[in-house]
Amino acid sequence: MQRHPQVPREAVIKEDLLRGGVAFDESALSDSANEASGDVKPKSYFIFSFDHGTLPELGAAALRRPPEEIVLTGGPYELRRTVVSVRVNPSSPYRVAADRDGLLGLYLDGQRISDVGVPPMPEYYRHKLANGKSVMEVAPTIQWGYLIYLTVFRVCQYFGAKEECQYCDINHNWRQHKAAGRPYTGVKPVEEVLEALEIIDRYDTAKASTAYTLTGGAVTSRVGGKDEADFYGQYAKAIEERFPGRWIGKVVAQALPKEDVQRFHDYGVRIYHPNYEVWDRRLFELYCPGKERYVGRDEWHRRILDSAEVFGPRNVIPNFVAGVEMAEPFGFTTVDEAIDSTVEGLRYFMGHGITPRFTTWCPEPTTPLGKANPLGAPLEYHVRLLQEYRATMAEFGLSSPPGYGPAGPGNAVFSVSSFMDSLPAEETVPEQV
Ligand code: SF4
Repeated sequence: MQRHPQVPREAVIKEDLLRGGVAFDESALSDSANEASGDVKPKSYFIFSFDHGTLPELGAAALRRPPEEIVLTGGPYELRRTVVSVRVNPSSPYRVAADRDGLLGLYLDGQRISDVGVPPMPEYYRHKLANGKSVMEVAPTIQWGYLIYLTVFRVCQYFGAKEECQYCDINHNWRQHKAAGRPYTGVKPVEEVLEALEIIDRYDTAKASTAYTLTGGAVTSRVGGKDEADFYGQYAKAIEERFPGRWIGKVVAQALPKEDVQRFHDYGVRIYHPNYEVWDRRLFELYCPGKERYVGRDEWHRRILDSAEVFGPRNVIPNFVAGVEMAEPFGFTTVDEAIDSTVEGLRYFMGHGITPRFTTWCPEPTTPLGKANPLGAPLEYHVRLLQEYRATMAEFGLSSPPGYGPAGPGNAVFSVSSFMDSLPAEETVPEQV
């Protein structure tokens, strides 16, 4: 915080929690064995595990589900309201615990550094689909209720060490939930998604839910007889027909050829996330062997630029996994080199009016990179990135991307990195796409 006074304090703590996880004291875990009956909105495991241990390793912290997110306020740093996605790590120096009066706080090495709030159980989680499935399983919401996260394909067709991205545990997460006997649908039927959205629409009377994301694993062949654009697109089409314009439709998919991207748009998707994962050529080839083999880095980038002609550059928002640049044994060994490389990528896309965004790498232990780097990337990298990201956006005259809610410390709800917390609040533009 002292070295980087331009970066909001909230963002520094949030990045540290995201990269290294947080422990939960028994006193801070609600007994939510019955997911729909508790008072606290539980962690939904919406795509990856985003934990620092497997479910059996986490024990009580997994069985008695932790909250989806926590919100930090006050404390010695006078934190403004900061929403942080929960990544469980029993050996983290950060711990959420209740004090003698039952008030939750965040403790760092035993010192209380902020108050902690937890998300209330939304009314729509208390209602089940006709077949008994929970809304949390079919259509969980994250970002304090802003985003409905529709992982409609829970596995990835890039399979095994030679194809899976080296930081991704989507396939393992599917296996571990199955092994634990939890409901975890591989391919979500369109009708189930519509029914869950119906329930959300009915009970979300405050209209907190603003956008939905359609996503899941890569489709290299077909799912249910459909290619990737038609598979994910069919959900957008059904949603837009049933609830026209109710939410902003987003899709996270591979960088597809322009005709396929056009189909996404025709189906009603308004924001496209063709994630480029890591900028450096050598690291992309090593970390994303499936993508490199099936598409290739240069073609991937070309397709991202092409998709701006379909969606408009503002609505193409490719993600990268911030921190894997520094993963051993192949990553950069200094923060300066890692930042220089990442900024080169930002400048490439921002120079075309496209605003990338990033999630903070969680080194899940069942992934090759997580196994080799249990501590993730240095906090210094993450804080420097926030600074450079903001500066590069300003240089290219770009403002915070659409579909992420409000920007600025105290306002942001985006929970898996603090890029929205560290952009200026005045840059928030109306959520039109
Ligand atoms: S494409 Fe890579 S990051 Fe995406 S789900 Fe498959 S393995 Fe994971």
